[in-house]
Amino acid sequence: MSAVTPESFQMILKLVHDFVRTKVMPREREIMDTDAIPDDLRRQATEMGLFGYAIPQEWGGLGLDLAQDVELAMEFGYTALALRSMFGTNNGIAGQVLVNFGTDEQKAQWLERLASGEVVASFALTEPGAGSNPAGLRTKAVRDGGDWVLDGEKCFITNAPIAGLFVVFARTRPADESGTGIAVFLVPADTPGVQVGVKDKKMGQEGAWTANVAFSGVRVRAAGLVGGDADAGYRAAMTSLARGRVHIAALAVGTAQRALDESVAYAATATQGGTPIGDFQLVQAMLADQQTGVLAGRALVRETAQRYLSGEDRRIGPSAAKLYCTEMAGRVADLAVQIHGGSGYLRELPVERIYRDVRLLRLYEGTSEIQRLIIGSGLIRGARR
Ligand SMILES: Cc1cc2nc3c(=O)[nH]c(=O)nc-3n(C[C@H](O)[C@H](O)[C@H](O)COP(=O)(O)OP(=O)(O)OC[C@H]3O[C@@H](n4cnc5c(N)ncnc54)[C@H](O)[C@@H]3O)c2cc1C
Repeated sequence: MSAVTPESFQMILKLVHDFVRTKVMPREREIMDTDAIPDDLRRQATEMGLFGYAIPQEWGGLGLDLAQDVELAMEFGYTALALRSMFGTNNGIAGQVLVNFGTDEQKAQWLERLASGEVVASFALTEPGAGSNPAGLRTKAVRDGGDWVLDGEKCFITNAPIAGLFVVFARTRPADESGTGIAVFLVPADTPGVQVGVKDKKMGQEGAWTANVAFSGVRVRAAGLVGGDADAGYRAAMTSLARGRVHIAALAVGTAQRALDESVAYAATATQGGTPIGDFQLVQAMLADQQTGVLAGRALVRETAQRYLSGEDRRIGPSAAKLYCTEMAGRVADLAVQIHGGSGYLRELPVERIYRDVRLLRLYEGTSEIQRLIIGSGLIRGARR
């Protein structure tokens, strides 16, 4: 059972809903133009506990479970996706590695600081040539006395320019049949030898920053090896990513809902030759396809989160939800631009940003192709058992 009662959760959800609609939405253009989340919004998010909503209460978080997490994610998806990115790594891919695999000492050292927003954590898995197939990563961790020494380079690391902590995956030995030989380390950003590259110039999600991170001769004490287990890395990454996929699916549903709402509002009022474009049945058909996708996605996300929580399905369902919802959001955003005609191509309108923002959802935390592989191979493995 969740640590947060349904009544308390409804209050949190209402606060987040109001924050998104009244505080963040009016600033979307500013976020896009400045490529930054304004400090005052960041402060408000911190005060609301948003840096730690999915971190257990004993470590200073709000302690929401995944079914509650997806409800928040659908709210966050309604505005610039950069907002969610700001605290997404603390609650999600990076934070969950600590929550599920960290020792008590590691949790005590970091989780409260993550939950309060004092420290931003980044999840550093991807490398040039090792994205879809992280088992091929080449960053090395070599034992030296009681320490580990890390060498390698990571790319596309969300929040790297503002991170205080890197959760770094590294190979401790060549892959063999007994395990993957991948460990995960907690590396404070100010450790000598850690170098964060320049901010990447991205297609969308302005205000959310990524960069390469190089590790050269970075010395990490034994206490920085997550779980004290040199073989836990691959499992930790896969566990964190599977949970994250349900969250990303929910985010996609929120964005698709926004694209739909923008489309309906536009179609109901904009005219051609004196006729509201919403009276044209071909426009209505586009709205119908958008609405159907949103409803299907929302139902899928909610059921997937429940099945994840009960332990019934923590692999195929999350991939199916991410695949369906992110592809759906891409189609819905594309239709939104279409419904807006030429105006949809202009920076002035939210649908132009949404079209670019959602493109990433089909790429990170496993591309659509990788989700299909997980679903298909999982089904075949299940049939052979
Ligand atoms: C803005 C942004 C933020 C990110 N944030 C993070 C982060 O915080 N931490 C982190 O570790 N990573 C992060 N990533 C990395 C992201 O997860 C990877 O880019 C993604 O997993 C794809 O890997 P890749 O870029 O190496 O592409 P590739 O794996 O090279 O994929 C290229 C194409 O080949 C296809 N492909 C690859 N392998 C197969 C296969 N076996 N079968 C069929 N098709 C295949 C892919 O589906 C894709 O179409 C981020 C990326 C971006 C762009």
